[in-house]
Formats: sequence, C-alpha cells, structure tokens
Amino acid sequence: MMVLTRKMIEIRTILQKVGQTGALTLPSIVVIGSQSSGKSSVLEAIVGHEFLPKGSNMVTRRPIELTLVNTPDSNVEYGEFPALNLGKITDFSNIQRTLTDLNLAVPEKDCVSDDPIRLTIYSKNVPDLSLIDLPGYIQISAMDQPEELKAKIFQLCDKYIQPPNVILAVSAADVDLANSTALRASRRVDPRGERTIGVITKMDLVEPDRGSNILKDKNYPLRLGYVGVVCKVPQSGGLFSRHVNVLSAITKNENAFFGQHPQFAGDQGLTVGTYSLRRKLMEVLEATMAQSLQGTSDAIHQELEEAAYEFKVQYNDRPLTAETYLAESLDSFKHSFKEFTELFGRPQVRMLLKQELDQRILDILAQRYWNKPFSDLKKTRPEDHPLAELSKVDPEELYWHRKLDGSSSALTKLGIGRLATNVVANSLSTQMEQLIESSTFRNHPFAKKAIQDSANTILNERFYATSDQVENCIKPYKFEIEVDDREWAHSRENAQRLLKDELKACEDAYKRLRDQIGGKKLGSAMTFVDKIRTGRAPEMQEGSEALGFSQAMLEKGREGIFLRDRADIIKMRMLALKSKGCATKDNKYSCPEIFMDVVAEKLTSTAVLFLNVELLSEFYYNFPRELDLRLGRHLSQAQIEAFAREDPKIRKHVDLQQRKLLLELALQKMDSLMALEKSKKAQGDEN
Ligand code: GDP
Repeated sequence: MMVLTRKMIEIRTILQKVGQTGALTLPSIVVIGSQSSGKSSVLEAIVGHEFLPKGSNMVTRRPIELTLVNTPDSNVEYGEFPALNLGKITDFSNIQRTLTDLNLAVPEKDCVSDDPIRLTIYSKNVPDLSLIDLPGYIQISAMDQPEELKAKIFQLCDKYIQPPNVILAVSAADVDLANSTALRASRRVDPRGERTIGVITKMDLVEPDRGSNILKDKNYPLRLGYVGVVCKVPQSGGLFSRHVNVLSAITKNENAFFGQHPQFAGDQGLTVGTYSLRRKLMEVLEATMAQSLQGTSDAIHQELEEAAYEFKVQYNDRPLTAETYLAESLDSFKHSFKEFTELFGRPQVRMLLKQELDQRILDILAQRYWNKPFSDLKKTRPEDHPLAELSKVDPEELYWHRKLDGSSSALTKLGIGRLATNVVANSLSTQMEQLIESSTFRNHPFAKKAIQDSANTILNERFYATSDQVENCIKPYKFEIEVDDREWAHSRENAQRLLKDELKACEDAYKRLRDQIGGKKLGSAMTFVDKIRTGRAPEMQEGSEALGFSQAMLEKGREGIFLRDRADIIKMRMLALKSKGCATKDNKYSCPEIFMDVVAEKLTSTAVLFLNVELLSEFYYNFPRELDLRLGRHLSQAQIEAFAREDPKIRKHVDLQQRKLLLELALQKMDSLMALEKSKKAQGDEN
C-alpha cells in the first residue's frame, strides 16, 4: 500500500482548492512521447480502460492532470472532472468524449493550451497515482501541423518535465532510441537520468534480441531503468471490449509474449510488462513524494503564515463564512424591520392617508370654489369673485347645496379603496427599499431583489382584498355625511392648518419664482399680464410677444399672478374660517373647507381600520417569513457562496479565511504524514 502517495494526493486536492501556487505543487509523473509512440496505450493500460481522445488529428491539446485514486472497497469505477461539475461519470466512453470536446475547444490558431484538464479516476483497479498526459511531440510538419505547433508542444512539455516531477519517456521499440524525442527532451532537463523512467513500447514489433538490447541501453543510462511493454489491446472483445479490463488483457498478452523469449527471462535482469511498469511507477512516485515531504511542508507553512498574518492584520482574526455572513445580514435586517414595524403603525398610516386626502381636497376646492379662469376674471371685478358671495350664502339656496354635495362626492367617489391601499403599499415598498439601503444587503443585487420581491409579493397578494374592503366600508359616506359639533370644531382647526400650510407653499413658490428671474422683471411681467387680462392693454393680444416680453417671460408672469391670486384667496378664506360665520356646522355651505375635512376625517378613520388589519398586520406577519423562504435555509450552498461573493470586501474576507483553514488542514495532514514516515524510518533502522 502506497500510503504516502495516497495521502499526498489528498493533500494536493486540498491545496488545489486553495489555488495552488508554484511552491505547493506536488510531484507527478509526466508522460511524454512522440505521436504514435504508444503513449495513450500505456496510460490506458495503467487505468485499465480506454478513455483518452483518439483520432488522426492531434487530439491532445491540453495537459491532462490525471489523478488515480484506489478505492479497494468499491466495485464502481468512475471519473470526475472537478472543475466541470458533471458528477460521477461511470461510462468511460463518456469520459473520452468529454476529454475530446475539451481538447477540441482549444482554438485551432492556439494549437495547444497550457490550461490543464483535471480528471480523477476512482477504481479498485487503479493504484494511487498522479500522472500528467501531455500532447505528443510531432515529427514532421505537415500542412495542418505548422512549425509553430511543434515549438509550442516543446515549450509546454518543458514546463512540466521540471523537478520534482518524474518523467515517463515513452519511445517505440521500432524507432532508433537515439531518435527518441522523449528521451532527448528528458536528457536536457535530467542529464544524469535520475528521475526518468524509459518506457519502450511495441516490443512485439522488433526481434527479441534487439528488444532486449534496447532495454539495456548504455547510451543514456537511467537510474530508474527502462521497461519494455506490449500495450496493444488484443482485438477480441468486439462489443464487450469496453467491459474487459484493458490491463488484464494486456498482461495476459505480455506474459505470453515475453514468456516465449529467453532474452526476457528473469535472470536477464530486465523489467518487462505493463504490470511491472505500474508497480515501478507507484514505487518511484512514493519515493519522490517522500523526498518532497519536507519541502512541501515548508512551503505550506510559509503560505499559512502569510495567510494567517494577513487575516490578523486585515480582519483582526474575525471569523466569517458565507453562511454566517448571510445569517447575520438576514438577522440584522429582520431586526431593523422589527424596529420599523414599531414606528410605522396606525397613527402613521392615518397621517399618510390624511395628507393624501388633504391634497385631493385642495384640488377639489380650487376646482369648484376658488379658481376662476383668467378669461372670466377679465370681465369680473374682485368683489364679483364667487368667493365673495360665499360669505353671504343663503342656507336654503340649492345652488350651494349642489356645490357642496358635488365636492363631497368628488372625494368619496374618488376610489378611496385603491387610493388608500396604494398609498400604504407604496410607502411600505419605499420604506423597505430604505431599509435595504441602510443594511448590508445594499451591496447584494441578488438579496436586494429577493427582499423587494418578498415585499411586492405580499403587497400584491393583499392589494385587491384590502382595496375592496376599504371601498365597501366607506360606502355609507357616499350618500350621507353626518357631522356633530365636536367633529366640526376639530375639522375647523384642521382646515385652518391646511390653508396655512398651503399659503406658505404658495408664498414659497412665489419667492422661488422671484429669486429665479428677479423681482423687478417678475413685477413688470405680472403688471403686463394683468393689463392684458383686465383689458387695459386692449391692443395687446395675450400670448403675443410684446414690449420685450418673451413667451417664456409671459408664462412666468402668469404663474406669478396665479400664485399671488391663490395666496389672496387663501388669505381671504383663512379669515372666513376664523370668523364667527364658520364656527358652527349650520353654516357648512359657507365653509366648504371645514366640511370637506370632516368628510376626509371620516374616510381616513374608516380606511385606516381596514388597512391596519388587511394590509399592515398581514405584511408585518408574512414579510419575515417570506424573507426566510427566499434568503434563509432554502438557499443552496452554491447560492449562499454566490451571495457572499457579490460583495468584494466579503469575498476577500471569506476567501482568505477559507484559504487559511485549508492550509491549516493540509498542514495538519502533512504533519501526521511526516510523523508516520519518521516512525517507519526508525523501525527500518532498528531492523
Ligand atoms: P500515442 O499517439 O503515442 O498516444 O500512441 P497510441 O497509444 O495511440 O498508439 C499508436 C498506435 O500504436 C496504435 O495503433 C496502437 O494500437 C499501436 N500500439 C501501441 N502500443 C503498441 C504495442 O505495444 N504494440 C503494437 N504492435 N502496437 C502498439
């Protein structure tokens, strides 16, 4: 059992997650050879399956980092591409197809790519090994294999055949060894032949004498020696061949072949057969791993120290994972939501709705009582303004009854249900957005959307029911409004306050206009418009550019007059509301502002009751649950990771912590492995 290799492969898998840096690379066996030297056949024999891309065209364009993991207790053999998330692939022809696709995906113009394909094969029939298959060296430069390709393959192979890797140099027996590209490449980087294993394939194609001489080669002696193999799969299987273990078929074949010839007999001291090759690879890799233990351990130590230092300096050792980050963010969001629910209740909804209705009242009053189009004013003097008559209203006069009833209907038939529900729903929606903006979720588009969706889902679900309920309940007010004295007094104050606010708004707007174009200019523009309107400038057509007033300036003039007139009217009405005339509800026809407020108050109070039950309480109850559904435990690990990674700061923090943890784990494994090696060595010394 090659414990070391196995453990080291485990450690390497961990280090790969860290994002392996050069210093952390563990030794592998790198397979090089010319095209058609039989390289693929050797690798497939070791794995026991056909799985490498085949074809006349150069199909290996990317290095394949092949990890073999021995699983003695399992009868299932499968491959995994850790980077691709394809799961376990038990059909080796599927692995072959995937590899072919991955290779062919390298653009023709790039020829080869040094981005490795990682493939791990799990089987009880494979040893623990780490192999790297590289594109075969090409001999002749044909049309479709440009000179550049040859150079690129050399470069790529050179990158991989550096120490501490072991080189498996594959050469065919029927080609003169002196011409073996693989051996020549190996000799350049390993001149004394210390870490190269020579594999001579196609031993069946040469005379046994010549074959055995090749294996005894003295020109380029290798400390790890030459191994002769016959890796041709016997063509007997037909349809079933895929299910036959390639290695056992080949071994049977090899035993028959080498057994026939005394040149390969045991006393010759030669190593032949794929099975022996496999054994050798395991031993050599194990020994190489043992040699690199200390170096790798030191490298991990150093990486870990750097990561730990950075973690301390940057994050004060504060632990953070994607899960805890999400959980904390969600908790604190829910917490601020809870706070919000305490601040936004019936009184606030009431205020919102009343404000909205106040605006509608101002519009209705303006339309039905206050506004006089300019064309009318042209003919009337201020004392003819209908408002002047309002103070002298005869309570029996039908005209004023209709006017007030119409105004009140305009309000009650506004579609209060929809309006009220809309106001509250919009406000909730906006406030949720503000909550998001002041939470950690503001940097997370995914979570932001999930929260907005949560809010909108509930609000949409509740909208029609709420709106219908409200509309139903305010129905009586569409027909009759009863007022008592207390209500009248309260609304009288409200109406005065509303007019005061409106007056201020008017005056502010007028001030802004004056500041914008200057008091003098505004004054003369207004005087001019006034003249046109009252007919004192009869020759001037309104709208014509005259006396240096541009169209835009005339517009400003009109706006100024509108604001001035409106302010005058409001002041007049404020006086009226203050006066004795408006003190009792009996005079409601002269005081429409107060009556409209009574109506609005009634509508608001009724609406708020239902808004509270149907919308607010439902929202407050369901929103946190909806959030849990969308952002809580239902998210997959990948979604949680993706969420945390949206924030670059968090991504860095989580990554660094992850890196540190993985390095710690790798180091821990490394330490126990070294302790094991030490005790093995001590035992060996004793014996
Ligand atoms: P690669 O291009 O180096 O990967 O070479 P392959 O493994 O595809 O082999 C090239 C050809 O040589 C194929 O037709 C194999 O069947 C054949 N081949 C490989 N090994 C042997 C061997 O040991 N003996 C014989 N006779 N043919 C072999």
